[in-house]
Amino acid sequence: MGTPNNISPSLSKSDESKEALKAWLSLHRPLLDVFLDAFCVVDTSNTVVDFNEAFTELTGESYRKVLKIGDFCTLLTTQFCPAECPAHQAISQNKPVRIDEIKGRSKSFPELQMILAAVPIQNSAGQAIGALLTIRNVTAESELQKKYEERKKESIVDGLTQLFNKTYTEGVLLRSVKAAIRQGDSHKLSVVMCDIDHFKKVNDTHGHQAGDAVLIAVAKIIKEEARDTDLVGRFGGEEFLCILNSTDREGALIFCERFRKRIESVRIEHAGTVIPVTISLGTATSLSDGNGRPDPIAAVKDLVGRADTALYFAKANGRNRCCQFETLPSNDSLKTPPKKNAA
Ligand code: GH3
Ligand code: MG
Ligand code: MG
Repeated sequence: MGTPNNISPSLSKSDESKEALKAWLSLHRPLLDVFLDAFCVVDTSNTVVDFNEAFTELTGESYRKVLKIGDFCTLLTTQFCPAECPAHQAISQNKPVRIDEIKGRSKSFPELQMILAAVPIQNSAGQAIGALLTIRNVTAESELQKKYEERKKESIVDGLTQLFNKTYTEGVLLRSVKAAIRQGDSHKLSVVMCDIDHFKKVNDTHGHQAGDAVLIAVAKIIKEEARDTDLVGRFGGEEFLCILNSTDREGALIFCERFRKRIESVRIEHAGTVIPVTISLGTATSLSDGNGRPDPIAAVKDLVGRADTALYFAKANGRNRCCQFETLPSNDSLKTPPKKNAA
């Protein structure tokens, strides 16, 4: 018994989808040809059914091999493959998906960085029958960006302590001074100059590496003690400068005492030996009074100079202490820098 002439063999649902996808492709292929980025079209089983040359280059496979392998996640593995493959998502959610930072790999790119957009392809009833994916390879750009960020960081951060370097710290202080002048808030800008006591002895007794370990440990603690709005920089060998924005003299003293006590009590260990460490600190608050608005550059110099004077006073008066410029005795001889290795 033959098939009646007027009845065509019925198509399965999946065949219908394939036919609809083919029809969509023949209609839109000329449009897709203008894409500069790699693109591919997948069906509901995530099989690549059409693609451009940029896609074959991205996968590292030949045209025939792409068709033979078929599976999108085998040709181009994204960090979401296979369970949450972007093509899959676009089809199952029946809505566009865009991921700007997506990692992946293929035969020709062991480490890919991509921007990927997946759009569902719908049949006349609005059901998703596949997806169109455009893939932009931004590996080179992101490598360049990474290098640029690294260089930028290297130029402002001290390699040993990871604190900001002197040049950058001075730049930030200048901005803070300008802001304080503009806001009429000069009594609320404090700087702290901090110096490790008898650090030369640490190097001489325990070695330079131990000295480095102490610097790293002290820098870590300074960073932990400072607020997000403060900035800490390595100003010299074993000298640190803290910029305390919106902090008056009392606030600066609270910060210094907290930091000083923590250093005094912390156990800094190197190669099995505990190295006792103390620090001395000098603070200066507010920009110098003058007639009219102070010159910001002169004000920076003046503020740092006063904090330095207070630090020298702390050193000369026994170390492991904090002195504030504003409360130093008026006797000028007390403010002169102590001799090196003075007790
Ligand atoms: P004071 O209490 O008066 O500050 O005495 P001090 O010994 O800390 O000061 P001094 O200026 O005599 O010595 C500072 C030492 O810091 C000398 C220098 O070798 C050491 N130093 C500077 N930078 C580094 C560094 O990056 N690593 C190490 N390990 N030591 C450093
Ligand atoms: Mg020192
Ligand atoms: Mg010093």
